[in-house]
Amino acid sequence: MVKDIATPARTKEILEKHGFSFKKSLGQNFLIDPNILKNIIYHAGIDKRSGVIEIGPGIGALTEHIARAAGKVVAYEIDDRLLPVLEDTLSPYTNVKVIHQDILDVDLNAAIEEHFSDVDEVTVVANLPYYVTTPIIMKFLMGKVPIERMVIMMQHEVADRITAVPGTKAYGSLSIAIQYYMDAEVAMVVPRTVFMPQPNVESAVLRLSRKTEPPASVIDEEFLFKVARGSFVQRRKTILNNLQTSLPQGKAKKDLILEALSKASIDSVRRGETLSIEEFANLSNALYEEFGASEK
Ligand code: SAM
Repeated sequence: MVKDIATPARTKEILEKHGFSFKKSLGQNFLIDPNILKNIIYHAGIDKRSGVIEIGPGIGALTEHIARAAGKVVAYEIDDRLLPVLEDTLSPYTNVKVIHQDILDVDLNAAIEEHFSDVDEVTVVANLPYYVTTPIIMKFLMGKVPIERMVIMMQHEVADRITAVPGTKAYGSLSIAIQYYMDAEVAMVVPRTVFMPQPNVESAVLRLSRKTEPPASVIDEEFLFKVARGSFVQRRKTILNNLQTSLPQGKAKKDLILEALSKASIDSVRRGETLSIEEFANLSNALYEEFGASEK
């Protein structure tokens, strides 16, 4: 059995051997605790029939654990300085392909066709670079990329916002956008001490599993998310007030907004944070003709 990359001693040895220095701007906080990695793999629910997309392999700490469990791993790393390191550390694993690319530039549907035609399902497993957590998740979800699950490390506070339910302080447009597509749960909270260097914030592993059906049928998903964002601009204000400010010519079209609210059976004095995803869906459908269709 090869020695784990994710121990403080081996990580230091690898970094020194390759003269590597961390770039904070790329969210480089490497895992140095094999127990956390085993737990991530457990929550990922992968086996030899699974294909895994990893974002940001770093020096390969998580990648090697995925490689041992899964059939195939494709890992996208933006930092070219890490490519020779990965070639070295991951040399025992023949089922890993490292690609030097910004994940936000990857055509994910094409990548899945190219790399994963021979697996039963595709899962995303990653210790994400925290500065791009939301764009990365939304790229997978809005792009209708055929993945079953995402098991991803992120800032604890962001994981709480994603999993939040109506009526709580953390509930907002991010909760709605993600829970529209996926069931979301915090799998574990992770202390700073398992990273090198230690981040300034607490972390958590979030498990997102694809919903078999969306919670409501909407005319236009992007418009739903726009309405949701617009309803939380000022959290303490009513839904009517926020929509009047956020929709085009909303002030002049107050009557039409009131009509849509009534059609969706939503009291105009409620606050956005009290509305369920289904209610937001009904509301965005009712507003769509007047405020959404014209933007197309
Ligand atoms: N997986 C490793 C681990 O757990 O030890 C490293 C995780 S570290 C939090 C994030 C990694 O993502 C870094 O290696 C960083 O260079 C890489 N990265 C940052 N932005 C990226 C992007 N847009 N696309 C792909 N990789 C990125």
